Amino acid sequence: MDQGLELKKIAEAVAACRKCDLCHSREKGVPGEGPADADIMFIGEGPGFHENMQGRPFVGAAGDLLVELLGAIGMKREQVFITNVVKCRPPGNRDPQPEELAACNPYLEKQLQIINPKVIVTLGRFSMARFIPQAKISEIHGQPVKIKGMLIVPFYHPAAALHRPSLRTTVDADFAKLPDLIKNAQQAPVYQPTDIIEDNSRAEQLSLF
Ligand code: URA
Ligand code: SF4
Repeated sequence: MDQGLELKKIAEAVAACRKCDLCHSREKGVPGEGPADADIMFIGEGPGFHENMQGRPFVGAAGDLLVELLGAIGMKREQVFITNVVKCRPPGNRDPQPEELAACNPYLEKQLQIINPKVIVTLGRFSMARFIPQAKISEIHGQPVKIKGMLIVPFYHPAAALHRPSLRTTVDADFAKLPDLIKNAQQAPVYQPTDIIEDNSRAEQLSLF
């Protein structure tokens, strides 16, 4: 499989997608970007104003902070894959609705299969809930959870640190854990394409450590 080509096909499908109502108000779909063999995948919530205009993820203020946080651990944004749980902007940056998340999920599912990252970092609660529905971000941020062969690490959304400066030390400390998490993530876990949205809530609680 040519992973780059597969990712490009997803990007084309997102650009033309009309599977949920967000297609009516979007300027550009934002499929995500980064190397097909990235060790880390960051998953945010959804495109904001600038992302919607440019068709690229995390290019506004939250993106600047993400780049700064990556820089502090010696990484560049070009090294990581960055995407969102919904690929089109919710109007006015409202929360994505359950039916939008469900309609968009197959794109993320395919991206996960193609990239098979060693570490998946969820940014914010919608992205965390995609893997760990019951969890509270204030309780589990920065703690790795193994789910069906995938290593998930929930982080606060960078925008949360922009709105609440007191979170910044916590966010810095969580990012500081990433290099070791990547190093220790055994070999890339085998992704099992079962439906992890529906039935993982019990597994999570056992696998929190
Ligand atoms: N916030 C997100 O969650 N995603 C983006 O792409 C930009 C800002
Ligand atoms: Fe399609 Fe996802 Fe955009 Fe909805 S948010 S139109 S499902 S790409």
